[in-house]
Amino acid sequence: MIQMFIESLKNLVSKPETIKYPFAPSPEPKGYRGTILYNEELCIFCDKCENICPPGAIKFEVVDIESGKKQYNYNPYLCIYCGACVDACPKAEEGCLTQAEVRTPVMGESVIKDPKLGYFINEIDNPKEVEKKWRELEIRAAKSREELAEYKKAKRAAAKAAKAKASE
Ligand code: SF4
Ligand code: SF4
Repeated sequence: MIQMFIESLKNLVSKPETIKYPFAPSPEPKGYRGTILYNEELCIFCDKCENICPPGAIKFEVVDIESGKKQYNYNPYLCIYCGACVDACPKAEEGCLTQAEVRTPVMGESVIKDPKLGYFINEIDNPKEVEKKWRELEIRAAKSREELAEYKKAKRAAAKAAKAKASE
């Protein structure tokens, strides 16, 4: 009886064990596979994350053809949180790609901003434009890859021709 009384007193002063869901978001459990975070400084631009991503939520765009410089773009609203990109990343252990234990907040009046989310989402202000801008980026990224491939091909051909001329 005394024990029950003590427990009741404890419960009166302790925090509730229940959560306010559905009126507040439920907290993610430990180990939850959430949003993908990127560190450009550690990236070797091998494209493995892009190639393995099932919904195509990662896209690299070549932003400078001569140097081959690429930019990482991630669409957190397309991501299915499978973690395949992190598993495929050769620099993941060093922290190049990591999976946060929290989900991406729902799209509201504004779009989430964080340098760790790559270029795409940080350049968008209107949430209604995410889908349209992503489609545009997909086309741009594919075109930039083709241009880079053509540039490299032309460079190789020029080098071969120069070599042949030198040996004449
Ligand atoms: S977690 Fe899965 S869906 Fe999300 S970016 Fe990585 S591979 Fe793509
Ligand atoms: S797999 Fe890792 S190292 Fe390779 S491009 Fe993606 S983030 Fe960069």
